[in-house]
Amino acid sequence: MSRDPQPGWRSERFSQGYVADYKPFVFVDGEGVRCSLYVSGCLFACEGCFNEATWSFRYGTPFSDELEDRVLADLAHGSVQGLSLLGGEPFLNTEVCLRVVRRLRETFGRTKDVWCWSGYTFEELRGGSPDKRALLAGLDVLVDGRFEISRRDLSLPFRGSTNQRVLSVPASLAAGRAVPWSPTRAASRGA
Ligand code: SF4
Repeated sequence: MSRDPQPGWRSERFSQGYVADYKPFVFVDGEGVRCSLYVSGCLFACEGCFNEATWSFRYGTPFSDELEDRVLADLAHGSVQGLSLLGGEPFLNTEVCLRVVRRLRETFGRTKDVWCWSGYTFEELRGGSPDKRALLAGLDVLVDGRFEISRRDLSLPFRGSTNQRVLSVPASLAAGRAVPWSPTRAASRGA
């Protein structure tokens, strides 16, 4: 099991198109009410990972047209602020994630937001493989970096260790450096 997947590794080498779980109308995976998709497969092997079962690229069930339609239908609810992509590692499952993000943008434009949790850092993704850069460009918020158990702090909002950051992706891409995200609504909460 690799502990050091490279940013240049394309998702198609690894992803089996599986998802570990899908949870609509949750309050714990970002700002506001969200629909959360957990993709399967991660190569970071962080010590203390919260969800080791999702390291397998064959954990769960294959992503399907039916699930994609269900996610879009759930996102249409007025109370839902957006989509959250978690894992596993979304950037080693870009086929699934890009499919949903592109459909979200076609359907809802920028009226719904997209959050994503990744073991890669913003800097790694910005210089990564074309599929990684494409997914990064589709995000609003990135929670980045490996989970480091020696830096664990369960009081942090949205992240598990102090090295991880909550970043505004459009602002970071425009500035060419990591720019912290600021709450857009009165929804600041703990992780
Ligand atoms: S990147 Fe996330 S899912 Fe992957 S091993 Fe680390 S904590 Fe677990």
